Amino acid sequence: MSESTTSPARLYDLLIVGGGVNGAGIARDATGRGASVLLVEQDDLASYTSSASTKLIHGGLRYLEYYEFRLVREALTERERLLKMAPHIMWPMRFVLPHSKLVRPAWMLRAGLFLYDHLASNMTLPKSRAVDFRTHSSGRPLKSDYTKGFVYSDGWVQDSRLVVLNAMDAAERGADVRTRTRLIKAERVNGVWHAVIENRETGETQTVHAKALVNAAGPWVARLLADTLKIPNSKSVRLVKGSHIIVPRVFDGPQAYIFQNPDKRIVFAIPYEQNFTLIGTTDIPWNEAPGKVGIAPDEVTYLCESVNRYFKAEVKESDVVWSYAGLRPLYDDASANASAVTRDYVLDLDTQDGAPLLSIFGGKITTYRKLAEHALEKLAPVLPAVAGASWTANEVLPGGDIGDGGFDAALARLRRAATWLPESLAWRLLRNYGSRAYEIIGEANNLAEMGDVLGGDLTTREVDYLMQREWARSAEDVLWRRSKLGLHLNEVERAKVAEYVKQKAG
Ligand SMILES: Cc1cc2nc3c(=O)[nH]c(=O)nc-3n(C[C@H](O)[C@H](O)[C@H](O)COP(=O)(O)OP(=O)(O)OC[C@H]3O[C@@H](n4cnc5c(N)ncnc54)[C@H](O)[C@@H]3O)c2cc1C
Repeated sequence: MSESTTSPARLYDLLIVGGGVNGAGIARDATGRGASVLLVEQDDLASYTSSASTKLIHGGLRYLEYYEFRLVREALTERERLLKMAPHIMWPMRFVLPHSKLVRPAWMLRAGLFLYDHLASNMTLPKSRAVDFRTHSSGRPLKSDYTKGFVYSDGWVQDSRLVVLNAMDAAERGADVRTRTRLIKAERVNGVWHAVIENRETGETQTVHAKALVNAAGPWVARLLADTLKIPNSKSVRLVKGSHIIVPRVFDGPQAYIFQNPDKRIVFAIPYEQNFTLIGTTDIPWNEAPGKVGIAPDEVTYLCESVNRYFKAEVKESDVVWSYAGLRPLYDDASANASAVTRDYVLDLDTQDGAPLLSIFGGKITTYRKLAEHALEKLAPVLPAVAGASWTANEVLPGGDIGDGGFDAALARLRRAATWLPESLAWRLLRNYGSRAYEIIGEANNLAEMGDVLGGDLTTREVDYLMQREWARSAEDVLWRRSKLGLHLNEVERAKVAEYVKQKAG
């Protein structure tokens, strides 16, 4: 490894380690307050937990059972805010909860849903209600044993796109965002962090200085403290693996299902990418090192059995077309059971030697914006650069300014502006990029001017945008994180995308 530059190290207000939702959210908020920020992510943005979630913007109905009222209230409040901040990548969803008397009594579900409907003050989504599956359309895919249940509201998010949009907004406000860049060493010298970062594509290292350091390394938070920073800390994370399977569509309609299992856990079945159903998740304690994880065969069986208890149509292991798994970095509250470990977050500020270090333990996608506000409130007394007023509550994310009338009106406007755009492509561009769809289309006046088609309706113009504006560097970044086109393209098409991205990345 060679030090790439001999020029004096640049001094940033804040060095953020980790380009998951929490690191990206803090980078956005801090930059908007006027701080100079460097965000380093060792792989791609959202490579780990933040692309492996169930993708719900939710209060977390089941956390009420663990008396997590603070978390649920904050998450419900955030749910409303987030749905407005990025209406292209997040939308409300109705959840169908069949009553199974073997698991929880109906009065308990009713009481939980009443609290869920009323815990926060700003709620606009439709409230919960009881339904009779013998007459309600959501009962059609269910076995006839289930006659009664409830429907309630929560939200859906394209999780990895949420991370990218936060990083984009941060960068557009002046943050220095570097992917494939790892923090390999950092120490406090005279009240300033001296940090060594490594470009993982070139192997070059560089020293940068920062007044404060944020450890938003998710599953690596404790290892970063112990191994990279050599700083003892009594707090820790419990890593709990959660996996999902994707199968061809099991039911029709826009509603999702939440099923209670005999082990008291819940499993979701959610409409996914038009033609599929997403089923998850599991809770498996993970005692090995953090990194890429995959689903185990017994998890596939567990998920199939969970939905087969409820759906008429049988889901078989052989139906699985894709799966993903991730590690929840949960704050270790010493709970015996992985499902019971708190989903709330803890911020640990260490101000030794005048150079603050803030470590993030736990957190949900849903609460990332509030977590960022809390993080900066905590840092403000020791880092005046972030002392400005909070500002993110009502500011849209890139592409979120889709205009009046919601998504359908925005789609109609896009179709009028580019009449030559096939409806399905217009829909997909708006769903992923919101108002930035116009930037992708640019000067194109017909489909041919969108460039070569690499597979499905993915053109080189869209891939160029992802590489120039969204830090995509590999086919996986394009097909599985910036989009889920990997599910829709065949092997030959995916190889074509890989070839194009490789040649462009140089
Ligand atoms: C199965 C599952 C389902 C979930 N479902 C939901 C849900 O439906 N709704 C919800 O709100 N939440 C959900 N969550 C929780 C949510 O996904 C996580 O809390 C959140 O994504 C954590 O984000 P993070 O930024 O802390 O961690 P991560 O996304 O893991 O980001 C940390 C980043 O730090 C980087 N990093 C580590 N070390 C270094 C280093 N030395 N240098 C540079 N970079 C480094 C890593 O590469 C990584 O990208 C779920 C989680 C799981 C696992």
